[in-house]
Amino acid sequence: MKFTPLPAPLEIDLSKSVLKPVTEEWSGPCRRCLTDARTGESLLLLSYNPFLGSSPYTSPGPIFVHYPECDRAYICDGSVPEQQARRPISVRAYDSDHMMVEGVVVVSGGGGRAGFELQKKLEELFEDSKVDYVHLHYAGAGCFAVRVDR
Ligand SMILES: [Zn+2]
Repeated sequence: MKFTPLPAPLEIDLSKSVLKPVTEEWSGPCRRCLTDARTGESLLLLSYNPFLGSSPYTSPGPIFVHYPECDRAYICDGSVPEQQARRPISVRAYDSDHMMVEGVVVVSGGGGRAGFELQKKLEELFEDSKVDYVHLHYAGAGCFAVRVDR
């Protein structure tokens, strides 16, 4: 599986964004490098629409990105990124017309099994030929996390 941070272009408008210094370790999940921000770093809170087409499901929502830049790059190894593996995730599967095929919340277990349930659910969804791609959102706040393709 391929995990893609920020699938649509990120447009930063500082007049519509909020700059937040990070005061609590691992508190803000950066959607660009898929690592949580550390104390001393800064995050920009801005509105972002991850869809690459239009449908009734498209909607901009809040995300964090390191500001001004990330000091590391996300490299996909095909497995669930750690940032999503340890949080409750809303899994939203879409067809090629950007219509939702299935939506479900997955809470992955701890004790070395972080991400296991999410990986299993994604594999199951991609067995369905109607599913074109999946968006993961953080289940609590509902913010977009990452796009997943086969
Ligand atoms: Zn980052």
